[in-house]
Amino acid sequence: MLQQTTVATVIPRFEAWMHRFPTLQSLAKAEESEVLHAWQGLGYYARARNLRRCAQLTRALPRDPLQLRGLPGIGRYTANAISIFAFDQPLPLVEANGARVLSRVFNIRAAIDSTAGQQQLWSASAQLVPKSYARDFHNALMDLGALVCTPRKPHCGICPIRKFCRAPNPHLLPVKRRRPDLVSLIEPHAFITRRTSVLLSQCQRRWRGMWMLPRARVQRGEPIYTASFPFTHHRIMLRVFERPVRSPGPHEHWFCFSDVTSIPMPTPHRRAIERCVRDLRQRRCAREIDDRLWPRRSGMRRRQSERRA
Ligand code: SF4
Repeated sequence: MLQQTTVATVIPRFEAWMHRFPTLQSLAKAEESEVLHAWQGLGYYARARNLRRCAQLTRALPRDPLQLRGLPGIGRYTANAISIFAFDQPLPLVEANGARVLSRVFNIRAAIDSTAGQQQLWSASAQLVPKSYARDFHNALMDLGALVCTPRKPHCGICPIRKFCRAPNPHLLPVKRRRPDLVSLIEPHAFITRRTSVLLSQCQRRWRGMWMLPRARVQRGEPIYTASFPFTHHRIMLRVFERPVRSPGPHEHWFCFSDVTSIPMPTPHRRAIERCVRDLRQRRCAREIDDRLWPRRSGMRRRQSERRA
């Protein structure tokens, strides 16, 4: 949950998750849509799906990191983190705060997001980890990184490991590779309603299993909603166009406006739907008032729309 999400945001989400799925068994039995709904807004939805798969494949957490790495979505970092924090095993671990401290203490000049840099960090962590109290050691290293050995201005004057640190210019470390420029993408989607329902499409790729507005085949007319959001190395411009009612296609389904909050949906589409539904309700309300005040005008408007249809 903490990948690219702050601790303050994660704490209530983690508590709600544990309340909803207190045991591996409860997670294993849950429907995928329920798990995605509990995870929505946290991104990296493959993690939620993998957690459920892990729960289905194992009745209890294996202690052996190699066995853990056989489970879906679990690599060296996660396997070691579980073994350290759940079972206090003396294993190396490299996460963001710890990587910064290690790169400075060992004066690692290789980019920490390169293969060479990662190898040096893991071997530095393996050299330092004690045989006992490995959990405390890693917690301390992370806290040191978060509070003392901070990214821009490390507080070397109060650092408890200052005498071991080899970095002559700590503020220049760690070195990172240049990030590729963001690629802009425009994604047109359709807002199609029928009385109090909206047509949604179940995503088969990027947000597999979640519901979103169906893709608009052409960008015609003015969008009723636009917003941009980042996704991996893309900046996506979401443009929503109002379209006339049609029959649902494959993987499409009508949902009552009031049910939209209870289904898994990526945040940019949830925001778009909430806004479009609110505007639609306001327009309908205004038309109703208009019809009551000017019944002749409403009759003409109805005949015009019947002729157009
Ligand atoms: S001495 Fe400075 S650079 Fe080295 S670990 Fe401590 S805070 Fe970080």
